[in-house]
Amino acid sequence: MKVLKFGGTSVGSPQRMKEVCDLITDGQQKIVVLSAMSGTTNSLVEIADYIKKKNPEAANNVINKLSSLYVQHVDNLYEDKSHAEKIHTYLQGIFAHLHNLTTEDHTPSLEKEILAQGELMSTNMVTALLQERGVKVKLIGALHFMRTDANGEPDQSYIKKHLKDILAQHPDYDIYITQGFICLNHEGHTDNLQRGGSDYTACLIGAALVAQEIQIWTDIDGMHNNDPRFVQGTQPVRQLNFEEAAELAYFGAKILHPTCIQPARYAGVPVRLLNTMDPSAPGTLIDNHMQWGTIKAVAAKDGITAIKIVSSRMLLATGFLRKVFEIFEVHKTPIDMVTTSEVGLTLTIDNNSRLALIVEELKKYGTVEVDTDMCIVCVVGDLRWENVGYESRISEALAQIPIRMISYGGSDHNISFLIRATDKEATLKALSAKLFQAKA
Ligand code: ADP
Ligand code: ASP
Ligand code: MG
Repeated sequence: MKVLKFGGTSVGSPQRMKEVCDLITDGQQKIVVLSAMSGTTNSLVEIADYIKKKNPEAANNVINKLSSLYVQHVDNLYEDKSHAEKIHTYLQGIFAHLHNLTTEDHTPSLEKEILAQGELMSTNMVTALLQERGVKVKLIGALHFMRTDANGEPDQSYIKKHLKDILAQHPDYDIYITQGFICLNHEGHTDNLQRGGSDYTACLIGAALVAQEIQIWTDIDGMHNNDPRFVQGTQPVRQLNFEEAAELAYFGAKILHPTCIQPARYAGVPVRLLNTMDPSAPGTLIDNHMQWGTIKAVAAKDGITAIKIVSSRMLLATGFLRKVFEIFEVHKTPIDMVTTSEVGLTLTIDNNSRLALIVEELKKYGTVEVDTDMCIVCVVGDLRWENVGYESRISEALAQIPIRMISYGGSDHNISFLIRATDKEATLKALSAKLFQAKA
C-alpha cells in the first residue's frame, strides 16, 4: 500500500481536485491524505484571530467570503446534481458551525476546532467526486485514529492500532481518503500537528502501516538545492538520505513539515516528493542511501533567538550544562544550536513564548545576553570531517556575512550558521553561487 499526500495547491481549485482524482484512480489500493484547499487554513486563522480580538462581525465577514468561494467551487466540481446538493448541504453545516463559534470566548481549543474545518471540507469534497466517478472510496476520519500524547507528540502505538482496526473493518475499498493536519490531543479534543502538518500525517500513516512508499505531492518538482522563494535558478535534488532530508525540513525547507521525516526514517519507508503540476517529473526520493562526496542543499530557518550565558565561576564545571539545559526542558523549549567556550555558552531557540522566564532563571549562572531576529542557515550533504575543502568553500561564500555562531560536527550531514535575519537572502544567494552554480 502507498500513502499519497496532496497539499493545499494540489487541491486548490475544482480543476486541481479533478486532476488529483485522475491521478489517484489507477486501480491500486492507496491511502490519500489531503490538506485544506490553499488559502483556507489562513482564512480560518484570520477568523480565530478576530474572535480573539472580540470582533465577531469581522469574523463573520471572513466566513461569508469563504463560504461563497466554496459554493462556487462546488458548482464547478460535480457533473451530477445529487452529489453537488449533498456537498452544498454538508458545507452549509460547516459554515453555520463557524458562525456559531464567533460568539464564543476564544480559547486554544476553540481555535483548533476552527482550524480543523479546512481539511474536513476538502476531504468530503474529493470523496464525493470519486463517488460520482464510481470509485470504491472510503472517507476515514483522521480524528478516529490520529492522536497526540500528553507531550503533544504523535501517539504512534495508538495511531497504528486504530488505523489498522479501521482498515480491517473496511477492507474492500480502492482508495481511503483522510484529513491531513488534524488530530485529537490526549484529552480527546480536536487539535492539529502544526501548520504544514499534513506531511506529518502522511508520514505517520506510512510508518504505522510500514507502507511501500509515502508520496508528498506538491507544487514543485521535489526538494530544490536552495529556497526557490529567495534564490533564482535553484535545481531539484533527485535523492536525499533520510537524515539529510530531516535536517533540511527542520532547518526551514518549507516543502516538508519540520519533523515529518522521522517516522518514515524509523520505519524505513521511502518518501518521494512529487509535483502535481507535472506528475511525470522525477521529483526527489528520500531513503537510506547516502551519496557521499556532494553538498546537496541549503535551507534557512527564521525566528531564531540566541541566548549567551557568560560565567566566570562555574562554566564547564561538572553539571553546569545539565543545569542550563534543564531550564529549557522545564519550559518545554527545544534548543537548536549550541556552542561553548571556557567562559561562555550560546544556544538558540525558535520559540520565545517562555523567553523571559528562561532568562530570569539563567541569570543565576551568569550574565545573560539575548539576540532576537536571527536566522539559522544550514548546508546539508556529505560533511564528514575527513573530507577537506567543503568548509572552506562555504566560509568563502560567507566572507561578507557577519556570522554569530557556527555549528559543525554534530552529524556527518550538516553545518549551520547563525546570522541576522536581514542577511538571510544574501547568505542563501552567496551559498548557491559558490556551491551549486559554480558547478554548472
Ligand atoms: P503544500 O501546500 O503542497 O504542502 P508547501 O507550500 O507547504 O506546499 O511547500 C511547497 C513550497 O515549498 C514550494 O512551492 C516552495 O516555494 C517552498 N520551498 C521552500 N524551500 C524549498 C526547497 N528547498 N525545495 C522545494 N520547495 C521549497
Ligand atoms: N492546512 C494546513 C496548513 O495550511 C496543513 C497543511 O496544509 O499541511 O498549514
Ligand atoms: Mg506544506
